[in-house]
Parts: sequence; structure tokens; C-alpha cells
Amino acid sequence: MDMNWKALAAMLPIQPCDELKQDVLMDIYDARGLGSNLILYHRESISLADEIQQIMDPQDWARWEQSKKRRWGARCTCTCCGEDFIAGYVRNGIVLTEGPDGQTYDGYAELGPDSTAYLDGETAVCPHCWTAAEVTRRSALRQGRTYQALQAEVVHVERYTAVMYWMVRRWQDADGTDTTVFVPHSALIVDQEGKLRRFRAELRNGDVRETVWIPCAWSRDPMQMAYYSWEAVNHRKIGGWTLA
Ligand SMILES: [Zn+2]
Repeated sequence: MDMNWKALAAMLPIQPCDELKQDVLMDIYDARGLGSNLILYHRESISLADEIQQIMDPQDWARWEQSKKRRWGARCTCTCCGEDFIAGYVRNGIVLTEGPDGQTYDGYAELGPDSTAYLDGETAVCPHCWTAAEVTRRSALRQGRTYQALQAEVVHVERYTAVMYWMVRRWQDADGTDTTVFVPHSALIVDQEGKLRRFRAELRNGDVRETVWIPCAWSRDPMQMAYYSWEAVNHRKIGGWTLA
């Protein structure tokens, strides 16, 4: 016996298949679809001093105290590995010490033959995880950034074919948080009379695990509806990807 199309609501998945998740996260890792990894920085006063000797008498300590000086450095956070590190600071950027093989090292640095300045928007390699990331002033992330992309997936539910639409949402903030969630968005099915039917997702308590699918009176193509994404023109984006 055939069921009413609305009864399918309880059978629709609330998360995409693992393969889709892997694909999308791989895209993000390759810095293609949804923003890029960041090295956030802000200026910070750094105390520098001569090296401490193995044997030091009180006078040595006094001299050591006097040798301390303060310089402007950069406190950095890599959004890929989450590590904090110190680098040199220049106006609008950071200075990283580099080895002959191009490897970067953390620590206070000044411009010289063994170091390179990376300005806002340029790509540097994180000295901890070696990921290429965009050097970005931390204050630019004060309000956070949300990148979104709609992702379609075809699934079979009972004897129906459904197209599930997931909003892939990447959130970055000034603390270096970088998370991606798959938010249920909508679903389309063709019912037994050949009519296109739509469900919209309702998140109880804003929790994706408590998603409820609500049958809608009208069908619209989710790929034609504008949605927010930070990097898009006017922050408005239309369309998305479909898992092949
Ligand atoms: Zn890193």
C-alpha cells in the first residue's frame, strides 16, 4: 500500500552520507569551496634577552635583566592545527624565519636574509602543521565569518527518490575556531502522481541532531534561492554542488 508523501518526513535522513562529508571536507582542505585556512595575527609586545648562561653569578643576572628589551612581535594562531605561535611583526603582516628548504620556523624574527615578511592576504606555511594558510589580521575576524555552500545528494527512501539539500556551513572566528557542520536544509521528492514535493528542515534548539522535516505546500528549487556566504558578492550566493 502506498503511503502519503508527507509520511516520508520521518524517514528522511538528517545528515549526508559519509562519502559526501569526506568529499566536502576534502574540498575545504584543498581551500577551494569555502574560504581557506588562516594564520591569524595580532601585534604583541615580546620580551627579548641574551641567552642565559649555564653558570651565572648575581652580577650576571643583573646584566641579564638589563639586556632584556621589548620588541613588537606577532601572536599568531593557525586555524588548521589550532596552534598558537610567535612570529616577527611588520606593518600589515608577520615575519617568519625560513630554512634553506623553505620550511618556516616560529619565534620572534626580524627581516633579514633568513626571514620573509608575509603581508595580509598572502599565503604562508604554518610552522607547526606545514599547511599553506592566508595571513589575516585577527581583528578582521572579530565578528567571525560564515561561509556556506548548498550541497545536493540523491537518496532513496522507500520507493521514492529524494534529493537532499545540505547547507555546508564553515565558521571561523578570531580565536582560531574553524568548524564545519552539515545543516539539513530541504528535500525534494516526486510523489506517486508525479508531483514535486518539498520538505524544509526545522532545527529544534538549533541542533542538527534534532532536525524535523516539515512538508511544504509549495515546491521551490533550493538551488535557485539565495543564501548568505561571507565571500560572495553582497554576501549572497545562489546554487551549489551535487554529489555525482
Ligand atoms: Zn598549523
